[in-house]
Amino acid sequence: MSIKVFLNEDEIPRQWYNLAPDLPSPLQPPIGPDGTPVPPQGWYKIFPENLIEQEYSQKRWLDIPDEILKILYRWRPSPLRRAVYLEEALGTPAKIYYKDESVSPAGSHKPNTAVAQAWYNKQFGTKTITTETGAGQWGSALSFSCGLVGLECKVFMVRISFDQKPFRKMMMQTWGANCVASPSNETNAGRSFLEKDPDTPGSLGMAISEAIEAAVADSSGATKYSLGSVLNHVLMHQTIIGLEAKKQLAKIGVGKPDIVIGCAGGGSNFAGLAFPFTYDKINGADIEIIPVEPTSCPTMTRGLFAYDFGDTAGTTPLAPMHTLGHSFVPPPIHAGGLRYHGMAPLVSQAIVEGLFAPRSIHQIECYQGAVQWARTEGIIPAPETSHAIAAVIQEALKAKQEGKEKTILFNLSGHGLMDLVGYNKYFEGELSDYALPQEEIDKTEEELKDYPKAQINKSGKW
Ligand SMILES: *Cc1c(COP(=O)(O)O)cnc(C)c1O
Repeated sequence: MSIKVFLNEDEIPRQWYNLAPDLPSPLQPPIGPDGTPVPPQGWYKIFPENLIEQEYSQKRWLDIPDEILKILYRWRPSPLRRAVYLEEALGTPAKIYYKDESVSPAGSHKPNTAVAQAWYNKQFGTKTITTETGAGQWGSALSFSCGLVGLECKVFMVRISFDQKPFRKMMMQTWGANCVASPSNETNAGRSFLEKDPDTPGSLGMAISEAIEAAVADSSGATKYSLGSVLNHVLMHQTIIGLEAKKQLAKIGVGKPDIVIGCAGGGSNFAGLAFPFTYDKINGADIEIIPVEPTSCPTMTRGLFAYDFGDTAGTTPLAPMHTLGHSFVPPPIHAGGLRYHGMAPLVSQAIVEGLFAPRSIHQIECYQGAVQWARTEGIIPAPETSHAIAAVIQEALKAKQEGKEKTILFNLSGHGLMDLVGYNKYFEGELSDYALPQEEIDKTEEELKDYPKAQINKSGKW
């Protein structure tokens, strides 16, 4: 029995997988408020052309440049591990495998795309990258990556996390970046959010507005913006996780998992693991694929599938996605990375198609799962990751009840060593479960009623 499965550097996948050409019903394009599709050129002020080419690509496979692989070898290929200690504690016949993305220098899956985006920006001639960060994971991943390729990095960090997680800010500084709390006084968007509510905890949507404004304000074009999730090319960069997992499972003779699980904020770590298996499912494999979100920010399970903006100020094009509305300010639960109002269009379309079965889980069950995990497997998971773990435990106990030897694969998206304040609140009994009230959900429809509607397109196969 193998408890850890490693790949050598020369076994690393050399191409990323793009789900877009394989979706049974194609993605609807990003559009402007008047309904006209946004062409690639429409993004050039914000992103470099080489990444926008990937964003619109209909090629199934894209080569990973050798120089990017050379950076990734610091921690990739990441280990595939089997959670035998948790299996034993649960008394389940299920076999639980996981990709350990906590081994990256920043502690999560996020450097997989941060390195690629920094590298393509450098190739393009960008000098400075601006971005937002919620819990601080993305800001630290991009700081680390910009430092390695020689770019300046400016991070707008959601106020509540900035105050609760000073260590993430120090990590960014160590890697050479500049991090400020958002809303800030540095942008028009930031000043207007502060005027409306001086005590706002901030949100990812607000921080995105600030970071985009800061990029566009540089008229030389040498400042670009970078997003850590949601976009097609970001999800594609993460598929190295699932592609490695396939090779590792094959190495130990596991044909296919029965269940694939990942937590989903904007959808990137989930997609990174799940899309290569989604390809198999589209081609006939029987795999249950489950993205997991918090009950307090139920984008996939209760949100609308609609055209919506990616940011609060409405500066981005409209994208077809599951959404709680761009002005949604999530309640301050600790899974900072799962508090985004929208969901990646590729993940959303696959949900519409019936390829994924999204699930929401309450905060306390997640922390219970995280603590059980830490006390059996050892790694203290990120609060975001705890959502995947709670769903894995649900499935493992179900397999026990049914007496079925199922193979479960999930993504351990990051460690929680910078998130111990949340654990402390859990131990002190200060956390409570919170389901978003229906009035909040109903507001979305009202907010989006004057914008073009997204079509519900599905083949009916799943
Ligand atoms: C950012 C983050 C997430 C959520 O983002 P996705 O794009 O949905 O993956 C999940 N887990 C960890 C550890 C993160 O840092």
